[in-house]
Amino acid sequence: MSFAATVLTLYPEMFPGPLGLSLAGRAMGDGKWSLETIQIRDFATDKHRSVDDTPAGGGAGMVMRADVLASALDSVADDRPILAMSPRGAPLSQARVRELANGPGVTIICGRFEGIDERLFEARPIELVSIGDFILSGGEIGALIVLDACVRLLPGVMGAPSSGDEESFESGLLEYPHYTRPVEWEGRTIPEVLRSGDHAKIAAWRKAQAEIDTRSRRPDLWERHGGVRVQPPSGARHEKED
Ligand code: SAH
Repeated sequence: MSFAATVLTLYPEMFPGPLGLSLAGRAMGDGKWSLETIQIRDFATDKHRSVDDTPAGGGAGMVMRADVLASALDSVADDRPILAMSPRGAPLSQARVRELANGPGVTIICGRFEGIDERLFEARPIELVSIGDFILSGGEIGALIVLDACVRLLPGVMGAPSSGDEESFESGLLEYPHYTRPVEWEGRTIPEVLRSGDHAKIAAWRKAQAEIDTRSRRPDLWERHGGVRVQPPSGARHEKED
């Protein structure tokens, strides 16, 4: 069973975009996932093919119409989860990405303008998803992000199946820092322990680094992980190795 993505958008030309390249592109070529776009404007009913109108109550910009979006959405009636990209949604998490990747696929609605008539979200089972606390000009790049995160988790897409396990967020912590050859670069050497060949010591070092970085850069994650909230030290990178 492959992962099927359907994206409702006013800009179908933005897809597959970067997802046609590299890992995701190869996986698509191999039939591990598929991507279909639906042009929302095809479901407009008036002679101007309008998909938006002025905001009720006044204010700047335009609002996407619930009726047109519902027709577009109802043309994809199936049991895949329906997401709408929105800064008012729940922040996307790796845990949610994993659930989505384990399912049959996803339908994603991309907003434009000031957003979407709220009644659509009352009338259809739609999950609002945010990719962060900032405003994009449209949901398309957000949809690409959701799909990229899902596709790399599909079986057989990533080179080494284990390379996902220790990644940032999977354990509730940021991942440890990485190094590769040359051993010395601009006077900086790869930490000795990583060259020791002692796997237990390496694992302990990596765990400690993951904790140090999480504590200083992401006190919110650290606190959720069960650590104590600390103020990030200004400009600090790693704490000293002993
Ligand atoms: N006026 C809205 C922002 C609209 S931005 C507000 O203040 O909440 C236009 C569209 O871009 C949105 O409908 C949404 O689909 C998309 N978008 C913008 N920022 C986003 C974010 N952080 N996460 C997910 N989608 C976003």
